[in-house]
Order: sequence, then C-alpha cells, then structure tokens
Amino acid sequence: MSSPISAAETTAPEGDAPRDFIRQIVRDDLASGKHVEIHTRFPPEPNGYLHIGHAKAICLSFGIAREFGGWCNLRLDDTNPGKEDPEFVQGIKDDVHWLGFDWHELRHASDYFEVFYQAALKLIRDGLAYVDDLSADELRAYRGTLTEPGRNSPYRERSVAENLDLFQRMRAGEFGDGEKTLRAKIDMAAGNMNLRDPALYRIRKVAHQNTGEAWPIYPMYDIAHALSDAMEGITHSLCTLEFEDHRPLYDWCVDHVDLPHHPELWQSVVAAGLTAKPAKPRQIEFSRLNLTYCITSKRKLAQLVHEGFVDGWDDPRMSTLRGLRRRGFTPAGLKLLIERVGISKQNSVIDYAILENAVREDLDAHAPRRMAVLDPLKLVIGNLPQGHAETIVFPNHPKDESFGTREIPLSRELWIEREDFAEVPPKGFKRLVPGGEVRLRGVGIVKCDEVLKDAAGNVVELHATLDPASRAGLPGADRKVKGTIHWVDATHAVAAEVRLYDRLFNVPAPDAEDDGQPWTAHVDPASKRIVRGWVEPAAADCAPEQHFQFERTGYFVADRIDHTPGKPVFNRVVTLRDTWAKRA
Ligand code: ATP
Ligand code: MG
Repeated sequence: MSSPISAAETTAPEGDAPRDFIRQIVRDDLASGKHVEIHTRFPPEPNGYLHIGHAKAICLSFGIAREFGGWCNLRLDDTNPGKEDPEFVQGIKDDVHWLGFDWHELRHASDYFEVFYQAALKLIRDGLAYVDDLSADELRAYRGTLTEPGRNSPYRERSVAENLDLFQRMRAGEFGDGEKTLRAKIDMAAGNMNLRDPALYRIRKVAHQNTGEAWPIYPMYDIAHALSDAMEGITHSLCTLEFEDHRPLYDWCVDHVDLPHHPELWQSVVAAGLTAKPAKPRQIEFSRLNLTYCITSKRKLAQLVHEGFVDGWDDPRMSTLRGLRRRGFTPAGLKLLIERVGISKQNSVIDYAILENAVREDLDAHAPRRMAVLDPLKLVIGNLPQGHAETIVFPNHPKDESFGTREIPLSRELWIEREDFAEVPPKGFKRLVPGGEVRLRGVGIVKCDEVLKDAAGNVVELHATLDPASRAGLPGADRKVKGTIHWVDATHAVAAEVRLYDRLFNVPAPDAEDDGQPWTAHVDPASKRIVRGWVEPAAADCAPEQHFQFERTGYFVADRIDHTPGKPVFNRVVTLRDTWAKRA
C-alpha cells in the first residue's frame, strides 16, 4: 500500500478557479457550445448499501450538475438479476437525499431492456455482433492474454440471418444458461482485451426484481451502461479509473448503435412514459476515494455484517453512508473531505484523520455545546445549603452568539469526571487534588476538603467548598487557578447511554495486510465501548440526530434509532482532538 496522504498535502480549492480537470472540461464544453446544458448520472448497482467512496462519485456528478445548472439522474444499474434487492434501492435513495442531492429522474437500466434488445438486433443486422456457442471455459481460452492475441471463434462467421434467428431464440428462452452468448464483432487481436469480441448478452434464467420472468437474457454492463447514458442524454459520464480500459468499448457501443439516428430504438422507452433525449456521452474517469481504516468494497462490507463483526449495515463504525450517518458524521463534513481530496486521475489512499478533521471542523462551527459526565464521581459542595437550587445561564456556543443561551441547574451535589480528580496527581496535573482548587465551569472555584472511600479503598465521593467570592460575575471570579473542569448537576442530570466508537480496524489497511490472517482479524474489539453517564437536561431533551459538543469530551450525536429524551442515547462522533496521531 502506498503511504496515506496527510492533511498537509491536500489542497483546498480557491475562489472560482476550475477546481479540477473534469469541471474544466465541462466549462470548456459550455463555452464552445458543444453542450448547452450539462447532464450527468450516478449509476450504482443496487447490490449493497453505498459507502464513503460513493459519496465522492455522488458529490461529483450531482455537484457538477448543480454548479453548472444542469441535472443528474439516479440510475440503478440493475442488469444482474438475483443479486439486487429493493431494500438496497431504498437505501441508495435515502443516502443520496441525506447527502443533500436530488435526482432529475430515477431510472433503471432495466427500463431499457427492450431498447438494448433492439440495439443488439441492429448490431447483428449490421454484421457487428454474432451468436457464439463456445462455453465459458472455451471463451476464456480463445481470449488470449495480455501478451498473446486471442483467436477467432469458429462461430464468428455465422450469417446475419443465422445470428438473427439464434438471438431471437435466445430471447424466446430456447437455450439454457451459458449455452450461447451474443458477442460484439470487433478484433480478437486488439491490445485492449475489452475489445476482443466482448460479450453483449448472456443467457440467465433468473427472475429480475423489476422485469420478473420477462427476460431469459440480460445485457452485459458495457452495452447497458453506454446505451443508458446515450438514451438519457447524458453529456458527461463520470466514473472511476477501473473503467478507463472500457472506454473504447463504451464509445464503440455508442457509435455503432448510433441512437440519435435510430429513433425507433427508443420508441419503446417513450411508450413506457420515459422521455428520451439521445446524445453522445463522453466518459471521463477519476480516481476512487480510498481511506485508511475504511473498507470500500460492498462485498467486504456485506461480510462484516453477515459474519457479525458489526451490528448491521448502519453500525456507526461502518464506512457505509448509513453507518457514517448513524455515527454522526455530517454531509457537510463529508463534502469538505471530498473537496480537500480533490478530483484527479492519481490513485491514492487518504488518511482517515482528514475525514475526522473535516467532520470536527463542521461540528465545531455547528454543534451547540452541552455538558456531560461520562465516568461520574460525586462532588458535594458542603457550603451550599441542602435543597439549594439555582440556574446558571450558559452560552450555547463560545464563538457564535446566534446559538443563544440555556439555563443549567445547580444544586449542592454534582457529578464530575472521575479522571478530573487525582488523589496522587501525576506530574503536571492541573485539576482537582485533595486540598487543591479547581474552577467549576460557569460556577466558581471549589476546594477539595475531603475524599470519601468505600471499604475497598475506591474514591466514591468528594466534599468541597465553593469560594463565594469566585462566583461568576463577581470581582473575585478572575482569580487564577490552574484548571477548569465541567460538571452536571446530580439532582437534575439525566442518565444517558453513551456509545464510544473508534476506528473499526486496528491497522490502516486491513485488507492489504500480508500477515496470513483473514482481513477481518483486524477488527478492533475495543472499537465500541458503552458507558453510562449523566447529561444536563438540555442535552437529553433533543431530537434524534441532534449533534452536540460535550465540553472537553468530544462531539456526540443523539442516536437516530435508539435515542429518546426520556432515555437518551449518544454516539461519539469524534474526539475533540486527533488522538491517533500520537499513537502512530
Ligand atoms: P463494489 O465494487 O464495492 O461493488 P462498485 O464500484 O461496483 O462497488 P457501483 O454501485 O457500481 O459500486 O458504483 C457506482 C458508482 O460509484 C460508479 O460510477 C463507481 O465508479 C463509483 N464508485 C464506487 N466506488 C467508488 C470509490 N471508492 N470512489 C469513488 N467512486 C466510487
Ligand atoms: Mg460496480
């Protein structure tokens, strides 16, 4: 694995300058009059949930359409019957919406099955496609290798009439799976293996989730993808680099079917109520988004779910979009990451810390502050009377007054973080120690008078005195003490379940480790830890998916499934600072 790109090496976009080579192409195509409107599409296969890599493709295709005043279709590439699931279709739609985009039209490759079939007949009539009887193994053997040309199939010179007859009988279901294939007649000696008479249609007697039993044959990716783009009037077909070698075949399909000059080919689409605006699309490739500590293969993500390494597709440690959402990662944070990484043809692996920093930056600006104590230790303020009750006004955001203020109750008994007290302080410890002083955020300075322990010697309670002259607003409030700690009022605090998530893997590239272990062996069991803490009332009383900064603790989100104000559940999104840089 190449070493990850660090935050310092990524560039932020500047002003109105072309942000990347694809936007520059689009700009040029508009300026030259080649296109008057930009049309893009995002074409996922509905065989899994979308992951963080897809966010890059979504932001690019939907983003360009938005920036240049065009549109972007959401097209479900459903040419693989049996592998696809309506649950995933709904998931994909939800995730695109969550990222803040909407599609011009929702299409399915299967909407066009009749057109693909008519296009295949045209290719046969033009002598550009033939039915082959070679088995899968024979096809492979005839294909040659990167260094050796392929060989022509003995069936390559079948007559147009025979090919038409055989293909129509394939369509009628007369042959079994794999018995025959429709192939493009291009060049078995082509240096690009994709041009060695690639398959256009295969027989698969499997029901399809949209078309049922209507089709015993299914188009291959290349013809379906190219013709779908052409049919929808896509101007710029943006995809990842692994399709670069497919581009000649993409162009071959577009050029030889020549949709704009064969309106009869898409009449069936029009008849189905879909608008068709044939165009000659241009495929442009860009590099995939790869991140350390992230799996971006649907198959492997499915493995994590099915083998029980995580709690589901939306487990907050998953790199699926729904996992990131549940974790509390924000669309704005993801977009910031994608902007920083940029669009290029350079393959790279991005440091996960860049994602965390982008999310931190977004949440720092947009998450109201609250106080929560995750590992509570009781602190009793001995010089406040029993039944003491007051409220203190706190700003909701230290840098942004528009967040307003809230009232926090204060009584005689508080919870503080256990780690903010040390009976035997390590060197440099600035918080509470026996006989020492610390500032309670927004209250004043307390001095620890007494440490109560249980029979086993564990500290169970602290007694303290509040210096009345140090109360906020009084002249003595400025008195210097070394540390300030947060707290919640024990009388009014709400018990909360807090799920402390961390990176799912304990190595940056779990699927690239060469250590003889299965990649799943690198799942870190400590990546999920559940604690019970106390939160101030104004933290509990919120809707699911509300983000907060718990002061001094980190960024948290109310769990979108399990949280209720009466029984709050928070997930840690990220810590306040990068704690991984130190570990490395
Ligand atoms: P997988 O190989 O895990 O099944 P995929 O790439 O086949 O994923 P698709 O549903 O076919 O997933 O992808 C839809 C679109 O998203 C494609 O245009 C693809 O290029 C793009 N895409 C997929 N993964 C990434 C990634 N990591 N970074 C950027 N774009 C991606
Ligand atoms: Mg794919």
